[in-house]
Formats: sequence, structure tokens, C-alpha cells
Amino acid sequence: MDQLKQLKSKFLGSILGSVIGDSWGARYEGKYYGSFRVEDFQLVGGMYTDDSEMMKGVLQSLISNMGEFNGSHMANTFVKNYDYRRGYGPGTISVLMKIKEGHKWDQPAKEVFDGTGSFGNGAAMRICPVGLLYNDNLEKLIEIADQVSTITHTHPLGREGAVLQAYSVALAVQSNPRTFEPIDFIEKLQSIPYKLSSVYQKKLEKIHTYLISPPSREKAIRELGVDVAAPDSVPIAIYNFLNDPTNFYEVLHSSISCGGDTDTIACMSGAIAGAFLGLEKIPKNWLDIQEENDLFRQLAEELFELFIDKKT
Ligand SMILES: [Mg+2]
Repeated sequence: MDQLKQLKSKFLGSILGSVIGDSWGARYEGKYYGSFRVEDFQLVGGMYTDDSEMMKGVLQSLISNMGEFNGSHMANTFVKNYDYRRGYGPGTISVLMKIKEGHKWDQPAKEVFDGTGSFGNGAAMRICPVGLLYNDNLEKLIEIADQVSTITHTHPLGREGAVLQAYSVALAVQSNPRTFEPIDFIEKLQSIPYKLSSVYQKKLEKIHTYLISPPSREKAIRELGVDVAAPDSVPIAIYNFLNDPTNFYEVLHSSISCGGDTDTIACMSGAIAGAFLGLEKIPKNWLDIQEENDLFRQLAEELFELFIDKKT
């Protein structure tokens, strides 16, 4: 495959990998590790949740604005796409309703959770298009990922989680599966030129240790976390990818079987694994049953064209 085709396959693999992880994981949200069996994706089907609906909004808005961040446009795209059946968190619902009522796009998110802002994983779960589009421009990736987050998540931990997830996607785009070293990947994440809070630094350090001396599954889940807080879900998504990077099935399966916020953890690890492996490594019968697979594929193609246009 020539280089351009390979790159396009990585864009498509990341977007669809994310949507499939979200859809598969959605059936098991809130369960505890060891208390359930993950059935094949073919059996549970491909209905996506808020994770993919918001990523769709990020894609649509970035494409409409030539890859630049337009806060009002993106916030209103989120509002337009909002479907309550997709399982949004209460903080995001309150933000979107206020924007719908006419509040300025960057105000409501500052007011949630008594004015501290949300540090949930809702910014990280939708950020993959930013990691793809700016995979070759880290400064811009950090800037845009942070801005996209602030529509709903203003707490530093929520925004840092999104930057870390976007950078993971970018590194996966640039990585070659034939020469890949998980330890190099985690060391690049650890040396990101961006202020990460100590909770993230410590968890990245743990992942580094795990890659040298693998822990039990229980220990990794206990120490990295599997809940809706960004620092308790972005790290395990990264670890689940690094644990078995060339096996798309296993990356998603391990992300779901760990329990907790399964849809978002699998959506984030699926975005990274898809960007690493490309679309060809996602089973065709999975793509066929995924809800709106044509629309997500088309948006991923448009994002890729935008990436190429920006380079030339
Ligand atoms: Mg969800």
C-alpha cells in the first residue's frame, strides 16, 4: 500500500474504531471486572452513544471551518446533533441546554459542578479527529484539543485527558506496526511539552512500569481506574492499546472486560488502535453492522482530505 493510502486507512480506522468501541462497550457500562462475559460484537450490534455523537459534531465542525476551532459553531453543532437516547452525562446535558437557550458557548461549562467545571472523560472521548488532523503539528494539536474540551469540560483534568488522548491518536498515526516499541510510545507521551497534572504523570509512569513488568489485570484496573473521571479512564485506554497493540479485537475486548465506563474506554482505545492499525484490521462484518458507518466513513474521508489540503 502506498503511503497516502496507508495514512487514509489510519484516519478511517481511528474514527470507525472509536465508534465500534463505543457501540460494543455501551452494552456493559457500569459492570464490575470479572462479573460478566463480553459477547461478540456481532451479537450485541452497533448502536453508538454520546461518545460518537459528540465526535461526529467535532468532525462536522472542524470540516466546516477548514480544520480551525470555531467555538460557537462547534457548540451549536453539538446542540443540533443532541439525542437524549444516546446516554449523555448530566453535566453535558445542562451545558448543551443552556447553549440552546442562547447562553454564549463558553459560559455554561464553567458553571457546572458548583463552578469547578467537569473533569469527566467527555472531552477525551470525542477528541480523536483533532489527534488525526494535527498528528504532525503538536503545538496546534494541544491548542485545538484544549479549545474543543472547554465547550463542556473546563476543569484542567478534563482538558488534559483530552490532550493526552489526542496525542495518543497522533502518535499511533505516525507509528509503524512493524517497528513499534510500546515503551517508546509511552516515553513520548511522558515527555509531551504540556503541563500535565501529577495524577496523569503518575499513571503514565505506572504504565511505563507495567510494560517492563506486566501486572495482574486486577492490579492495573485498581491502579489506573476505570470510571468516568478523565484521569481514571484515559490512562487505562492507552494501556489497553499498548498491552497488545497489533490485535484490534483484544484492545477493545480488554477495554470492555475491565468494566466501569466501558463505552468510553473502548472508544478511546479503539481510536488509538484504529489509528495504529488502519481500517483493514477492523473486521469487515463489524463495519457492516455499525450504525451510520457510511456517515462516519465519509466524515473521516473529508477530514483526511482536509489534512492533505493543509499540507499542500
Ligand atoms: Mg457513552
